[in-house]
Amino acid sequence: MAEASVPVADPRAPQTGSAETNPFQAVTLFFDRAADQIGLGDEMREILRTSYRELTVQVPVRMDDGRLEVFTGYRVQHNAARGPYKGGIRYHPDADIDEVRALAALMTWKTALVDVPFGGAKGGVQCDAREMSVGERQRLTRRFTNSISYLLGINRDIPAPDVNTDAQTMAWMMDAYSARYGYTPAIVTGKPIELGGSLGRDAATGRGVVYCLAEAARDHGIELDGTTVAVQGFGNVGSWVARLAPELGCRVIAVSDVRGGIVSHDGLDIAAIARHEAESGSVVDAPGTEPLTNEELLELEVDVLVPAALDRVIHRGNAERVRAKVVMEAANHPVTPDADDVLEAAGIVVVPDILANAGGVTVSYFEWVQNIQQFRWEEEQVNAELHKRMKAAWATTHARATADAIPLRLAAFSIAVERVERADKLRGYAS
Ligand code: NAD
Repeated sequence: MAEASVPVADPRAPQTGSAETNPFQAVTLFFDRAADQIGLGDEMREILRTSYRELTVQVPVRMDDGRLEVFTGYRVQHNAARGPYKGGIRYHPDADIDEVRALAALMTWKTALVDVPFGGAKGGVQCDAREMSVGERQRLTRRFTNSISYLLGINRDIPAPDVNTDAQTMAWMMDAYSARYGYTPAIVTGKPIELGGSLGRDAATGRGVVYCLAEAARDHGIELDGTTVAVQGFGNVGSWVARLAPELGCRVIAVSDVRGGIVSHDGLDIAAIARHEAESGSVVDAPGTEPLTNEELLELEVDVLVPAALDRVIHRGNAERVRAKVVMEAANHPVTPDADDVLEAAGIVVVPDILANAGGVTVSYFEWVQNIQQFRWEEEQVNAELHKRMKAAWATTHARATADAIPLRLAAFSIAVERVERADKLRGYAS
């Protein structure tokens, strides 16, 4: 099928705010620091600072009450030198072009750092999915998929779940795409198992965070037995971190969601909280726990803090009150650049998002491989391969940080930018 002409990203597009408030400017700042660190040439800087392609679409949806509501959706493709574009789809009122751009660029650096053969992309629809019925969400998903479908392809661009989207959303996306182009399970990852999803994908991001925590603790001399952990967010990523961290001997003492948090200094019974959340829709008021706010959770005296909800939750205004020894960035971009500097000066180990939460895209890669080969792996194999890749990514990043005496984030970005630069040069995009 011939490719329709599509708009090209305008690098001069106006951006508001600063790196502290604008996520794309923040990710660009992290990139610039890495570019300076490795002495990246001007041509490559120009290519890698902006997205390759950005599509904005209207998503008209007939709501249950008969009204037509017109949402705005985005698919941003940042770089595909190392493989097809890859990145999740987010449904959130704050999903604007700068947020989606930032997350697309982070995907390029993440896939390069964990060395899976993908580039970086992200999508989003600006909507409050939690206020929408299942039927409305399904109609939104199908319309959005149709609108961006000519950018997608199993060797071109492969979406996945993100905030407020899940395996069911991916099933609708796959069905909408397959209705047009023929049965194509590999077009999305994070699907239900019955439709070609991978065993272990649901837990993969959280499991990867926990694997990475084990490595970070060992190399930083932190004893994990009895270590206290607080997790912000109890969705896909946060709930799996909370469930799996106790396997390392950690005690999870606080968790939260959009409605608020709960704490128990003796340690939370995560299975009981998951049941309470499934019944009531929130972790709040789980039996045997004390309430606390999301802000208080971030400032708790714990060994390990895991922001696993939204971006920019640790910022200039609260960074000095963070008391953890380690911050595992399970969410994307939870720490602003100013806050990053404050945490660094305080000697807090910050394990950056492109490393800590890369387990999701790693198992998405395994899912794509399984779909293409039409062969299902055992869950043990998925987890063992994930473990191997997370350990390797940690070891490479930690070794660079130690050798160059730089923070983990700068080391991770430097390695990722070098890999993408190499691929872009081999393809002949720049010298
Ligand atoms: P999710 O929608 O499953 O869960 C989000 C959680 O955050 C929910 O518990 C929600 O209640 C909570 N939350 C929302 N707004 C909040 C607020 N203002 N304060 C506190 N909590 C709030 O999303 P997810 O897939 O778990 O993603 C969480 C983060 O992890 C995002 O930054 C996402 O980009 C990142 N991430 C996800 C994956 C993945 O595989 N799902 C992979 C890599 C990174």
